[in-house]
Amino acid sequence: MNLVQSIFKYKCPRCRKGNLFLPMKSLSDILEMPKECSVCGQATEPEPGFYYGAMFLSYIGTGFTYLALVAVLIIGFKLPLNYTFGILILFAMLCYIPTIRLARSLWIHMNVKYDKKYN
Ligand SMILES: [Zn+2]
Repeated sequence: MNLVQSIFKYKCPRCRKGNLFLPMKSLSDILEMPKECSVCGQATEPEPGFYYGAMFLSYIGTGFTYLALVAVLIIGFKLPLNYTFGILILFAMLCYIPTIRLARSLWIHMNVKYDKKYN
């Protein structure tokens, strides 16, 4: 599995095999992670407050994505402002869980190196 697949499939950055998140049973389980990778033992939260950086990645990513979406809807499709923001809110609700998990996955992949010995 390559780096991009590992990030988008929420796999452990060190072995790219273990899952970063536990299966979701309810909305409150969005960020439930095992303490360590089941394959290589990599800690999923290497230090307290580790995922504060992911919050900034999420903020930057959603900010530019939403800005682009609004620009396309208003300028490209010439939709009225009310419809545009209705679509934006719906889009944000649909993307909430993937965005928050993707930001964490991206952050841990930026900070933990891949180790070929687990391949
Ligand atoms: Zn692992």
